[in-house]
Amino acid sequence: MNQQNEGWLLHFKNGSSAYADIVIAADGANSKIRPYVTNIQAFYSGVTMVEINIDDAQKATPHIYAMLNGGKIMAFGNGKCLLGGQKGNGGLGFYASFKPDENWAINSGLNYADKTQLLAWFKTAYSEWSPVFYELLENATMPITPRPIYCMPLNQTWKALPNLTLLGDAAHLMPPFAGEGANTSMFDAVELCDCLTSDQYNTVQEAISFYETSMRKRAATAAKYSLENGERMHSEGALEKMMAVFGIK
Ligand SMILES: Cc1cc2nc3c(=O)[nH]c(=O)nc-3n(C[C@H](O)[C@H](O)[C@H](O)COP(=O)(O)OP(=O)(O)OC[C@H]3O[C@@H](n4cnc5c(N)ncnc54)[C@H](O)[C@@H]3O)c2cc1C
Repeated sequence: MNQQNEGWLLHFKNGSSAYADIVIAADGANSKIRPYVTNIQAFYSGVTMVEINIDDAQKATPHIYAMLNGGKIMAFGNGKCLLGGQKGNGGLGFYASFKPDENWAINSGLNYADKTQLLAWFKTAYSEWSPVFYELLENATMPITPRPIYCMPLNQTWKALPNLTLLGDAAHLMPPFAGEGANTSMFDAVELCDCLTSDQYNTVQEAISFYETSMRKRAATAAKYSLENGERMHSEGALEKMMAVFGIK
């Protein structure tokens, strides 16, 4: 992407190019466009989530499938979590979540396409947990994917540009422990649209500036809650603490 006249010329992998007066980067956690706005980087949240997917769960993992009963499981214990739920396509998505070093996924020595290795790892890492969960690893759709979880700094700021802005994870990547990432992203889109089409601002840059100030504030509140929830879920007494969050005695 490079500046051209008052806007941007975008270059695509297939060799084509397109001119835009305004670019709105909604290209997710690893945004290619964010660096044109700011060089502020995400930090490691302290949590890594190992993603486990199951196809045709009723057949592949009948006990977990029955336990889920179309809903979700959030299981906490010994500083670790298992979080998962039913997908719309008959599959299940689960995350084994814990607090290793940032580079655990690279340094673990695990082959993430090797079910036997991963089951052995799970039995050791979750040794205090019920064997009922082994079914997940035994029947996972390979590969399993480790995901270190990152967060944009809560106090991030930058000067608004006249022709380029960010929304969603590209702007405010946060851990998923408050279920706010997608919701915040959709709110961004609505607010940015309102600002850009309003007659309240003298320039597009002013409209972008108003949107970005409000978006950063809103996202910082959600990210703080996500980080706090992540700490709670991986702490001693997580189950009791989380039940209190949900108002369950
Ligand atoms: C485990 C987990 C659980 C979550 N649970 C929740 C939840 O319960 N509730 C909630 O609100 N949020 C949740 N989230 C967060 C949510 O998934 C994200 O915040 C949301 O998807 C961000 O939307 P986005 O559109 O900004 O980015 P994305 O969904 O990442 O979309 C970005 C899009 O841009 C495309 N793209 C990227 N680069 C390029 C490029 N160079 N050219 C063209 N296209 C490109 C990508 O292919 C993708 O389609 C969760 C996240 C995780 C990891």
